[in-house]
Amino acid sequence: MKVLIYWFRNDLRLSDNPAFTQACLAADSLLPVYIHQLSNNELNEYGFKRVSHHRQEFVRQSLDQLRRQLRGLGSDLLEYEGRPEVVLAELAKVMSAQAIYCEQIEAPQEIDQVAVLQDLGIEVNEFWQSSMLSPQDLPFDLEAMPDMFTQFRREVEAVKLRNAEPIPEPATCPPLPQSIDAIGDKALPSTSPPLVNTGYPGGEEAAMLHLKRYLELRFPDSYKQTRNQLMGQDFSSKFSLWLASGCISARVIASELAVYETQFGANEGTYWLWFELLWRDYFRFIHFKYGKKLYRAQGLSKQTTKPFDSLKYRQWTSGNTGQPLIDAGMHELERTGYLSNRLRQVVASYWIYDMDGDWRAGAAWFEAQLIDYDVYSNQGNWLYIAGRGTDPRGGRPFNVVKQMRDHDPHGVYQEHWR
Ligand SMILES: Cc1cc2nc3c(=O)[nH]c(=O)nc-3n(C[C@H](O)[C@H](O)[C@H](O)COP(=O)(O)OP(=O)(O)OC[C@H]3O[C@@H](n4cnc5c(N)ncnc54)[C@H](O)[C@@H]3O)c2cc1C
Repeated sequence: MKVLIYWFRNDLRLSDNPAFTQACLAADSLLPVYIHQLSNNELNEYGFKRVSHHRQEFVRQSLDQLRRQLRGLGSDLLEYEGRPEVVLAELAKVMSAQAIYCEQIEAPQEIDQVAVLQDLGIEVNEFWQSSMLSPQDLPFDLEAMPDMFTQFRREVEAVKLRNAEPIPEPATCPPLPQSIDAIGDKALPSTSPPLVNTGYPGGEEAAMLHLKRYLELRFPDSYKQTRNQLMGQDFSSKFSLWLASGCISARVIASELAVYETQFGANEGTYWLWFELLWRDYFRFIHFKYGKKLYRAQGLSKQTTKPFDSLKYRQWTSGNTGQPLIDAGMHELERTGYLSNRLRQVVASYWIYDMDGDWRAGAAWFEAQLIDYDVYSNQGNWLYIAGRGTDPRGGRPFNVVKQMRDHDPHGVYQEHWR
């Protein structure tokens, strides 16, 4: 009798989830679990919670939907709170589980969680599944991948890689282990009241509906022209919201985009959407090459960091810098959990270059606020703007006055988020 635990991490979906499918195939009985990290509610070194209510609510909705899907397959989802490695070790012991299956996350904290479990002698089977391309299809080893994005993209395009093929959701799911009674009462209650309405519901079903709508309304065609706008629903795809919690995979999005291209023809917009998803992959893959070095103050550079100024930090985070575009952007971020890519770049640049801020403090604020927080994309983009990543051109300071002129010439955005 093979008892396995499936640990949902940032992969809150059933379709195109190879790790979950493999667990279903390998188990006689399977316990699907999600662990709310205790550290998310603790104050970080800057004095605020690591996860804001916006993301908590989105994840809450995603989990509720995942539970419904699992129940439809005769299974369930059990939720716990704590340090994942501690909770999982206890569960594995009580359930006499032979192994834990989960997605692989190549970031320091997540790597450590798995290492602790393995040190305890627990078998952990990890599957890399969060990128659009499969690492084994790349024309280079990840450890030797090109540092520059342009070179990376050229080499990917030279071998005509578009996306790895997604897989369907498993038709059946093994039953819950009989020993469930021994641990069931320690699980958290399955639902909690909604906290806020973010306007974008979490969950796999909502993700698929959003993708369908985005394609049906032909938004990819205008994406290249609109992607740098600051306001509105469809100037950019908003896929990131669901990608971050894994409610949908990048492979599914890319393969639907390929179908769209065969139906309506490829164009600048469809290419550019793929191109942006490739940036997402790039920031993931670069973690295999540089790992923890990406988390140092100097990143990959030799630059030093100025002393941390908490007063300036409060001004920036609360949107009280006196610079109207920056303040409006920071208000939008805190009130909604989302910010356009252009404004993410501009407020990050302002913190680093105009306020002499430590990029890691900026990244920590984004981590807390963003619904679409993704460890690889957040770290990668902050390093890129700070000039401490792989980009040989150094940092990317933005001129705020020029940005206002180009993207908010009549102050509509600034007025809206005052
Ligand atoms: C300082 C900073 C921090 C960021 N932090 C995050 C983060 O935590 N999570 C996150 O998903 N994105 C992050 N981004 C990247 C980008 O801003 C968002 O992915 C994008 O704004 C999400 O909106 P969208 O889905 O409508 O994007 P679209 O413009 O529609 O792009 C389509 C998809 O491509 C990917 N993508 C687009 N731009 C980037 C990029 N620059 N880097 C990586 N992937 C990209 C995303 O998956 C996105 O969903 C950050 C950018 C900056 C400048």
